[in-house]
Amino acid sequence: MEKRSDFGKVRLLTVKMGSSVVCDRESVSAGRLRAFARQLAELHRRGCRSVVVSSGAVAAGVRKLGLPSRPATLRLRQVCAAAGQVSLMTAWEKALGGFGLKCAQILLTAEDLADRRRFLNARNTLASLVEMGVVPIVNENDTVAVEELKLGENDTLGSLVASLAEADLFVNLTDLDGLHSADPRENPAAPLLTEVGKVDQSVLTMAGDSGGQWGTGGMFTKVRAAGRLAERGVASVVASGLVRDVLLRIVDGEELGTFFKPAAKRGGARKHWLAFAARPKGRLLVDAGAAAALVERGKSLLPGGVCGLEGLFDVGDAVTIVEAVGEAELGVGLVNYSAPEIGRIMGRPSSAIEGTLGYSHSEEIVHRDNLVVFKGVGRPHGAEKLRNKTSKL
Ligand code: GLU
Repeated sequence: MEKRSDFGKVRLLTVKMGSSVVCDRESVSAGRLRAFARQLAELHRRGCRSVVVSSGAVAAGVRKLGLPSRPATLRLRQVCAAAGQVSLMTAWEKALGGFGLKCAQILLTAEDLADRRRFLNARNTLASLVEMGVVPIVNENDTVAVEELKLGENDTLGSLVASLAEADLFVNLTDLDGLHSADPRENPAAPLLTEVGKVDQSVLTMAGDSGGQWGTGGMFTKVRAAGRLAERGVASVVASGLVRDVLLRIVDGEELGTFFKPAAKRGGARKHWLAFAARPKGRLLVDAGAAAALVERGKSLLPGGVCGLEGLFDVGDAVTIVEAVGEAELGVGLVNYSAPEIGRIMGRPSSAIEGTLGYSHSEEIVHRDNLVVFKGVGRPHGAEKLRNKTSKL
């Protein structure tokens, strides 16, 4: 999906719809959902299946329970999400049913996706639903997610689901028309960017700070999600969900919203999981030589390059690989040895593994095939999330 004219070939679409798109002032907007259902049915007819990530549970719950506004406490927002999720799904079922489509509800947490087995279960369920022609409607399982581990906004969840479902295209629908070169509310003349080649710091800056000028979530998390998908070879479009026939027009190649071009060839499913969903159990600190070998030369991580470790992880666990000086996060990988074993062999050549441990089942601490190197946008959640305890549902 290098260019918009390729979108006609999309066979699986992940569409995320924000609360401002799904809900109007009253509650879940039956009219808007009907319009989306009509488009999804038309795409379905053309052989393009969809997975929907729908927000709106909290907003619908606020209305249903007669609260004056979005509650400030996490607990009450969880109550609203529980009450509103029913209304949201009822509305989706009715809308899609009107066009002969069935839907299914999938509620996920970041922790579900971090666990490889649960991730694979979710993936199998999604794939089977899609195969059966059912439209999965995904939301974060707001009632069970603990505050510091919550994804909090569905942009990140949408990108995780796009990766989980192995979608060809991620369309993120919001009430803004895409990414502008500056905040259009302050700078009405700032032009819309129709295409972004690489999401680097300057592009993230255009999107504003997270929770900053454009409101919580806002354009920042949308651009970050698109950037992460681009790094893994998946195309995204951020566009207004309030525009008539937006999905059909995007798939037809019309220049709506901002198109984030994939920056690489599409990676394998396991690397997607590592990059997006796996939750590292510890950290490996590496020296400058190992950092260059990993990032620039595409090598595996050998014991000689490891100079420190944190955490009690086991064989097969995911760990973050960090450059010892400056602590830049270089990537995430699955380890071939446990933390105590690495403690004994780090800093030594691979040939010394057997003599030190009495066995050697691999020369590498992390094999290249089990390693994802970051190129600037970083991980979807993790340390950053824990530090920044925002509690948005
Ligand atoms: N999960 C929240 C809801 O359904 C939405 C989070 C978001 O605004 O992205 O209300």
